[in-house]
Amino acid sequence: MKYIISMGSNLGKSQEIMVNALRDLEKSSRWKTLKKSSFYRTAPWGKTDQPDFLNAVIETEWDGTPESLLRFLQQTENRHGRTREIHWGPRTLDLDLIYGENEERNTKFLTLPHLFFWDRPFVLVPLEEVEPEFIFKEQKIHDRIMEIQGYEEVKKEPASWEGGW
Ligand code: ATP
Ligand code: CA
Ligand code: CA
Repeated sequence: MKYIISMGSNLGKSQEIMVNALRDLEKSSRWKTLKKSSFYRTAPWGKTDQPDFLNAVIETEWDGTPESLLRFLQQTENRHGRTREIHWGPRTLDLDLIYGENEERNTKFLTLPHLFFWDRPFVLVPLEEVEPEFIFKEQKIHDRIMEIQGYEEVKKEPASWEGGW
């Protein structure tokens, strides 16, 4: 099953954490990376009094249900120093399950598609890079990005997934 994941970090060595987290995810035999966006530096959204985020979007082929994938993502967050303190506060690693083909969920554990993804430039700008033809609620991703504004605040970084920090 094909899924889209949003990755973010604004505490610690964010690029290093994200590269290591992806390597970790790829150790699972149930995970296959299909696409990964560039890194983007983005102003914090929602709770704005915190450092900028580094964000990226990953497309994966996961052999399992969305619930099993979310559990796996949460275990990976925990291995990379994630603590849960302030709501929407700074974090070393955040892995959100954004979208799964033909999958909808509405439980306490999992809302799919992710509740806010269609409003968030830091998800949509990297997502457009990997899936330029993405359509949601009959709207093209590019048109949505133009509509919600804020995309100027999401800036592509020269950083690479090959490391080099
Ligand atoms: P947001 O979800 O608005 O980006 P957040 O990432 O800061 O906020 P977390 O503290 O990481 O939120 O997660 C809170 C809870 O959200 C988790 O316990 C998880 O079970 C639940 N959740 C529901 N739907 C999803 C989803 N699609 N992806 C990730 N977590 C989800
Ligand atoms: Ca999040
Ligand atoms: Ca999260």
